[in-house]
Amino acid sequence: MTTAHDYPTLAPGQCPACGAVGSLVAFAGSLPLASGNRTIEVPQLVGERCERCEETFLDDTSHARYLAAADELVHQARLDAGAELRRVRRKLRLSQHEAAAIAGGGPNAFSRYETGKAQPVAAVFNLFRLLDRHPDLLGEILEAAASFQPRVKSPLRGT
Ligand SMILES: [Zn+2]
Repeated sequence: MTTAHDYPTLAPGQCPACGAVGSLVAFAGSLPLASGNRTIEVPQLVGERCERCEETFLDDTSHARYLAAADELVHQARLDAGAELRRVRRKLRLSQHEAAAIAGGGPNAFSRYETGKAQPVAAVFNLFRLLDRHPDLLGEILEAAASFQPRVKSPLRGT
């Protein structure tokens, strides 16, 4: 989505997306937004729509409302993911620090995931989804995590 004033050199009624002249018509209605498993409709938006390429250009107020709704949706999707990670972690009887030792990202990573302050990478989410279905694999993963040494410690600079 674009706002019309990003393109000050356009002729009146010219579409900023496809360049068609006289193709813009008034738009008033709702537009969809999707993130994770959630989809919403943002209602009562106003602007213009191109009849040729079907791109919509919202006025400033509607554009700001649409972006705010997108931010809120991303935040909700993060909270959903965090709640799911917490459910699986508790099922496995792991502390947040123990879960972070498996997932990486530092000792406080799981706390940040579960409260929606950070977005886990897909590998973390997929690992805990797998452990949810196959909790018998936990011992094996704990063993692997304990022996994993990602950093070389050396007194020499640049090693
Ligand atoms: Zn167009």
